[in-house]
This record gives sequence, C-alpha cells and structure tokens, in this order.
Amino acid sequence: GARGGAPGDGSLDITYEDIGGLDDELEQVREMIELPMRHPELFQRLGIDPPKGVLLYGPPGTGKTLIAKAVANEIDASFHTVSGPEIMSKYYGESEEQLRDVFEEATAESPAIVFMDELDSIAAKREEAGGDVERRVVAQLLSLMDGLEERGEVVVIGATNRVDAIDPALRRGGRFDREIEVGVPDRDGRKEILQVHTRNMPLADGIDLDEYAENTHGFVGADLESLAKESAMHALRRIRPQLDLESDEIDADVLNAIQVTEGDFKQ
Ligand code: ATP
Repeated sequence: GARGGAPGDGSLDITYEDIGGLDDELEQVREMIELPMRHPELFQRLGIDPPKGVLLYGPPGTGKTLIAKAVANEIDASFHTVSGPEIMSKYYGESEEQLRDVFEEATAESPAIVFMDELDSIAAKREEAGGDVERRVVAQLLSLMDGLEERGEVVVIGATNRVDAIDPALRRGGRFDREIEVGVPDRDGRKEILQVHTRNMPLADGIDLDEYAENTHGFVGADLESLAKESAMHALRRIRPQLDLESDEIDADVLNAIQVTEGDFKQ
C-alpha cells in the first residue's frame, strides 16, 4: 500500500499519520527509539547507552502494535514480531529456539525492531508462572537482550496489558528499562482516531466527528475503527436496493453519490 494508507487496508507501511491521538506517547517513542537509532553518535557523545528494550503497556486495542510498526517504518528498520502466546504454545525446547532465531534474523537485518506482543504470556513473573518452560524462555530472553550490542541497532519493543505481571528481571537496566503507557484515548484522541479511520470515506457534508468523539467515552482505537467501518457498511446496505449487482460495473453516478451519513453512524 501507499505510504499513509489507512491502517487495516492491508498496508504494512504504517506511519505516525495513521495514529490518532497519542502525541505524548509518540514523542517519547521518538526520543527513546527513533533518536538513538538514527543518531547513535548523540548518545555516544553523552556517554549513555541507547535503550535496548521499551515496554508499551495499556489496554488492548489502544495502538501499541501500531506504534511499533510506525516507528520501524519511519526509521526504515526491519520489523520482526514475536507473539507471546504463539511462542509459548510450541512444544518444549522449541520456544527458546524460535526466540533465538528471531533475534538472529533481526541482528542480520539491522536496524531492526523486534516486537514482542503479549509479553506477559512469555515473561510472567517466574515465581508466578512456575512452569519450567516459562523459566527457560525468560532466561533465554534475558540472555538474548544482554547479548545485543549497545549500539542500539536492534531495539526490542514489548507490549502488554499487564505491566505488573512482567518478570522484574526483565524491567531492569539494559533490558526493558523504559516504559510508555498507552492509555484509553480522551475526547480529542477519539476524534483524531475517527479522522484517521474516516479519511478515505465519502462522509456526507455536515458530519460532525466531534459529536461521535463526545459520545464514545471508553472506546479505544480498535472500537473506533469498528465504528467507522460499521458505518460505511451500513451506508452500503442502505444503498444496496439502488445497485444493479448483476451488471458488470456499478453505474458511476450511483457510485459517486454514495455517502456515509449521520444516520449510518447512529445505526
Ligand atoms: P493488543 O494489546 O490487543 O495487541 P494494541 O494496543 O496493540 O492491542 P493495535 O493492534 O495497535 O492495538 O490496534 C488495533 C487496531 O485498532 C489498529 O489496527 C488500528 O486500526 C486501531 N487503532 C488502535 N489504536 C489506534 C490509534 N491510536 N489510532 C488509530 N487507530 C488505532
């Protein structure tokens, strides 16, 4: 897809423009990840190590994955995903190997972002998880992160809904030692997210996204995306009687007249 394509359109080229709200969060991400990856000499000059790991935490559907993809794309880094539950479902021994493989691949394709989704399912406090596999996987992850070079060529972004469940050993210096909370959006955030997800839609004149932002308290980005999509689908169902679906092409006038109206949003 083209740069700036709406998220969800199948495009992997997520940019900061595709993220509604989260300005402060993105500012932190840029400082913690983008800046050191782009300009390692700044950190060298200051005598500090760039972060190896950043933890994004907050409720599901708030944009953590989106942020990780956007930052990778903006700095032209390769993107490697590790899904926590998926890795833990591998049979004994294979989980650590998978983890090693991902880190190896990322190092070979650096600059690289390793995105570890649902990190808590891998890296739950060892005493809590108790299981042998969990212990070994956490130990493997610790050793892989310790083994990353200090130059910041590979940065690991972990995402979790339960930051307190993460093994404290993983939150120490040189591992996931920076944290960014990605919270539920406020009214302004909701409006910006709605703008992102309706920007390619033919909205009827007079549609006031402020109103929908006002009335969607508690909605996260994923909910607002559904709201926008459902509204468009409602518009489609509404005009269906006018469409001659048997013909090869939809009449251009009919096509051009399609709009998503207030009624579609309020269905
Ligand atoms: P999970 O914890 O479930 O993995 P997450 O925080 O990683 O959730 P995402 O996968 O980034 O959430 O978001 C899911 C979808 O919701 C995105 O693909 C996007 O379409 C939409 N979305 C979420 N947050 C935002 C946002 N801030 N701006 C625009 N779209 C958003």
